[in-house]
Amino acid sequence: MTRPTKAIINLDAIKHNLALMKNIASDSKVVSVVKADAYGNGAIKVAKAIEAQSDILAVAIYDEAVELIEYEIHKPILILQGPYDQTELASAKTQNIIWMVHAYWQLEMINSLPTNVAKPKIWLKFDTGMHRLGFPINQVDRIVNDYSNCIDQDTVFCSHLACADELVTKHADHQIEEFFKYVSTNKYELCIANSAAHIGFENTRLSYVRLGIALYGARPAEHLDIELLPANSLESSIIAIREIPKGDSVGYGASFVAKRPTKIATVAIGYADGYPRHAKNGTPAWCNGQIIHLAGRVSMDMLTFDVSHLETVEVGDTVQLWGDKLDINRVAKEIGTIAYELMTRLSKRVPRFYV
Ligand SMILES: *Cc1c(COP(=O)(O)O)cnc(C)c1O
Repeated sequence: MTRPTKAIINLDAIKHNLALMKNIASDSKVVSVVKADAYGNGAIKVAKAIEAQSDILAVAIYDEAVELIEYEIHKPILILQGPYDQTELASAKTQNIIWMVHAYWQLEMINSLPTNVAKPKIWLKFDTGMHRLGFPINQVDRIVNDYSNCIDQDTVFCSHLACADELVTKHADHQIEEFFKYVSTNKYELCIANSAAHIGFENTRLSYVRLGIALYGARPAEHLDIELLPANSLESSIIAIREIPKGDSVGYGASFVAKRPTKIATVAIGYADGYPRHAKNGTPAWCNGQIIHLAGRVSMDMLTFDVSHLETVEVGDTVQLWGDKLDINRVAKEIGTIAYELMTRLSKRVPRFYV
């Protein structure tokens, strides 16, 4: 038997989720975010599947854009962190690239390009309260004045929200208010929404929306009730089963101690595959139609689960760590992280299968 560990990526689910998100605001153009290898789901495969439905694809950095271009993605590609140096800007591959410019040093770099290099297409990122990247929003007019040569009617004015996924909307409302205080919809093309904002804040559905996590089937927040289809299922199977007496322990550090005679199943996936090592005893997984719980510390290549309550359980049975049988958000919450991290940290040892 080959190692059964795999991530099953459902491209139809991703297409469905994109269509669903587009239905929410059919007037907004869509930037489909495929950075970080499409959140671990495979940038090329995902980009090919959703290119036709997307107006623009987005990645974080230049190298990710080059990969898409080399695999014949023809839609414009927005690079969310903009250029790092002039070599990137001057590269022959940049016809389809749009640079999200967030700092004066990037504007200066564009202005000092040799005259034989084509003017890069840019979007502008403004800081409305996230305080990570972007020009202070009150400098819109100054930038439009001082860098008019970099800007044209296709330049989109952007910002990013820190708390779009929160139940209390005060912070997001404030950022949105700051944004509209300085830019107006009839003057510029605008873009402020990520998945959470797009679902939760009607006033962020502007010229463009930037959609990431929702495409991959994870609700951006519990209260944002939307029928997304899970697109990423992580599976492995049981490679050993044993019964241990009350009082015996399981795994490194003997962190799980059996309170009663316990049946332990060992599953062929560990932290080297991207399953977080800090997952605690009790973290859920799915096996034979039921929830099972982690029992013992996460090893590099294996996990151990308490399967005492399963009527039938055998070596070779499938275990789903998250996916269409078990909500990735539920698992993420138990582990103390978010679905984004679970998906993106799946390591290259985990083969991706596409359905
Ligand atoms: C990653 C990213 C997004 C997508 O966010 P989701 O929450 O996954 O929808 C949008 N905008 C920017 C600037 C990003 O970096």
